[in-house]
Amino acid sequence: MSKILYIVVPCYNEQEVLPETARRLRMKLEDLTSQRRIDPNSRVLFVNDGSRDMTWSMIEDLCESDPVYAGVSLSRNRGHQNALLAGISVAVEHADMIVSMDADLQDDIDALDRMVEAYKQGNDVVYGVRSSRQKDSAFKRNTAQVYYRLLKLLGAEIVYNHADYRLLSRRAAKALLSFREVNLFLRGIVPMVGFRSTTVTYERGERFAGKSKYPLGKMVTFALEGVTSLSIKPIRMITVGGLFVCIVSLLMLVKALVDYCSGNVEPGWTSIIISVWVLGGLQLFAIGIIGEYIGKTYMETKERPKYIIESVLLREEDNAG
Ligand code: UDP
Ligand code: MG
Repeated sequence: MSKILYIVVPCYNEQEVLPETARRLRMKLEDLTSQRRIDPNSRVLFVNDGSRDMTWSMIEDLCESDPVYAGVSLSRNRGHQNALLAGISVAVEHADMIVSMDADLQDDIDALDRMVEAYKQGNDVVYGVRSSRQKDSAFKRNTAQVYYRLLKLLGAEIVYNHADYRLLSRRAAKALLSFREVNLFLRGIVPMVGFRSTTVTYERGERFAGKSKYPLGKMVTFALEGVTSLSIKPIRMITVGGLFVCIVSLLMLVKALVDYCSGNVEPGWTSIIISVWVLGGLQLFAIGIIGEYIGKTYMETKERPKYIIESVLLREEDNAG
């Protein structure tokens, strides 16, 4: 029996690329269906993440024109990760396997064939991994490299050069949805879900049209989110640093006392002013980091919904067949 595939595509102001993405994904589904590798009830599910342009009305038109398209609209912009989750939560009710993919065609659609194949071989999670990042700007490439290393160092389990192009089986998707935390960094959470997994490499292309929806500010926030939601090592580093400073200050105390006893007292302005600044800085830094985590705890205790779905467009009339 062939399996139902849902491709979940989060869209935020993607009117420039949407028609082309829709066309290519439909072709891919038709292709896979005709080869009997997936069920004819497979769908392309667009998630409108509170777009301000024509994105949602375009999705509505697509759903109207062809039952292969489905749409979910969020009540407002909640960011890529939450939009993805919203899509997965709808798809999991209908699909055997779910692939998440960006709307801008940077993820190679042809890698889908291999993902489906890997699923058939018994993998519950298939990570799309970029073979190279030549098409990204040098800045993005290098910062990403450093960032992945840093996350590893801090003990987070992540798949190198994997973004959010991945296949999940229904049970892996269900497991993912059972993670209740609000700060959900999917790249770090999916490996925690477990099950058998594998990777599929693909060449990451350039954005087909339109501008990146991740300006530098958003990227930095996202990166920090990743660190603080996956690791508490920064707190430990502060503790170790604090301990070190305490030891140094003891040595300073001994030296000061020795100087005092030998009558060798200096005006001491330099050392005082330096220690005031250094310690002040360290303390502020430490308080800042601790505050980060307290803030996180505070947000988590609220248990706010990660997204609110405004409407779902999904035709199931051919499901009987
Ligand atoms: N996206 C979203 N909500 C947002 C920002 C982005 O759903 O608030 C979607 C966007 O439409 C795209 C994907 O997330 O499908 C990745 O965004 P983009 O391609 O702009 O990021 P980049 O590739 O530049 O990192
Ligand atoms: Mg992109």
